[in-house]
Amino acid sequence: MKERDILLEKYSSRVFKNRKNHVTQLELGEEPDTITANTRTIPGIVTERGCCYAGCKGVVVGPMKDVVTITHGPIGCAFYSWGTRRNKAKPSYEGEQNFIPYSFCTDMRPTDIVFGGEKKLEDGIDEIMQLFHPKCIFICSTCPIGLIGDDVQAVARRVEKKYGITAIGFSCEGYKGVSQSAGHHIANNGLMRQVIGVGDKKPKTKYSLNILGEYNIGGDGWEQERILKRIGYEIVSVFTGDGSFETMKNSHLADLNLVMCHRSINYVAQMMKTKYGIDWLKVNFIGVGATCKSLRMIAQYFDDPELIARTEEVIADELSLISDEIEYYKSKLKGKTAGIFVGGSRAHHYQLLLRDFGMETIIAGYEFAHRDDFEGRDIISQIKPDADSKNIEEITVSPDENLYRERYTAEEIEALKAKGIELDTYDGMFPDMEKGYVAVDDYNLFETDELIKSMKPDIFFSGIKDKYSIQKAGVVSRQMHSYDYSGPYAGFNGAVNFGRDITMSIYTNAWALTTPPWKVAPLLGGKIGGEANA
Ligand code: SF4
Repeated sequence: MKERDILLEKYSSRVFKNRKNHVTQLELGEEPDTITANTRTIPGIVTERGCCYAGCKGVVVGPMKDVVTITHGPIGCAFYSWGTRRNKAKPSYEGEQNFIPYSFCTDMRPTDIVFGGEKKLEDGIDEIMQLFHPKCIFICSTCPIGLIGDDVQAVARRVEKKYGITAIGFSCEGYKGVSQSAGHHIANNGLMRQVIGVGDKKPKTKYSLNILGEYNIGGDGWEQERILKRIGYEIVSVFTGDGSFETMKNSHLADLNLVMCHRSINYVAQMMKTKYGIDWLKVNFIGVGATCKSLRMIAQYFDDPELIARTEEVIADELSLISDEIEYYKSKLKGKTAGIFVGGSRAHHYQLLLRDFGMETIIAGYEFAHRDDFEGRDIISQIKPDADSKNIEEITVSPDENLYRERYTAEEIEALKAKGIELDTYDGMFPDMEKGYVAVDDYNLFETDELIKSMKPDIFFSGIKDKYSIQKAGVVSRQMHSYDYSGPYAGFNGAVNFGRDITMSIYTNAWALTTPPWKVAPLLGGKIGGEANA
């Protein structure tokens, strides 16, 4: 019996009926493998998912350092999302504002729920303006806001008028959609409407890039910027790790968008393509091989022999600096297996980094990915919107009269794609997985435990909520959201850090001590009636 079937047969018939399409063991047969995703979670099943507010404030808009992001609601949402996601940021120049260490909240009380919280929100913003003078304010709604009818967009418009700054109200109440994913979409819409395209500062160098869907966890974005700048690219803006309002305003003037996390930012990538003609390239800077491939695709996109040669020069130099360490860790890790349950992109990206060390990822799961993240963008037209996703606004954009600039014609794009350049597309996770491997959508604690028992990976990557239950079962666990407070893991130097961390985890002596010695052999020796009794 396959591991998927062993897992599913433990469910009641009702739960089985729902979950059977969310767990796929790859067949790689004539018919493409499919999965159901982005649907409502079963109540009480102990999902790992978060909410729409977490996707909007926690993931996409929160990391912008020069913006004051206000959590409008009771204190819990602001407190639990304060400093817990490691989206690092530092001022890029002396005097640049950086509000990342703070958490701003209207701290609503019962009277605000009864009489409305708009006044308190506006008073709070007055206080923020006096104390911090930000150029931009985001207001993120939590659950009660939509229920009591506070109009955060109207407040934002009043603030803009009063102070002459940019203010955006995000209606990202936690109950919207089915997961963090709805919040990503709402955040993308707000940034597209009011930030992207507002500036006019043109890039100074020949080739310029935006990095989309990179949140600088543990410094990942800085490592990517380091390599790209070494080759000679100008980074106009990063969405949004260590990113800023000041740079994002000018992002429409860049030559090419690189997309790291497809799930959280593909809406902006697609809208910028339509409005400004900027192509987007799906890249992956997680993994040595994947980083080299991404750098080569970027250089080939610009089709400049000098740039291509410089790219090869940098790759050769970077590889020479890390190859000994990578080989050493590979000798320790080769042949081991892994499971990865994360949010919406890493369960794919990290399979390639693990492969650099000779490891295979036999279980991969997402909390809130959509079918296109598993199966590729070609299936988007087949996805039927349900009642939960219909609530999330789809905005349509059209080519900007003055700023639209077609970089390549449709035929040229097809020719570039034929050369293997992954332009304006994403093939999803399945093509990088082997037959028999298991993919899970909206995994829960029970499924995590059961799959670990049946498939026995040597190491399991997931989040803080299940790390300790996995370790208590005697299985090595590493956090793949927070990197267990380590990192960066991206790029060339990140691959070395990752190899070091997982070698250290797997070879920790404590794993040999999880079974007490008296469970394996008697500890006391003695004699009964003069006979030796060991
Ligand atoms: S579900 Fe509602 S209350 Fe909970 S964190 Fe999200 S916005 Fe806050």
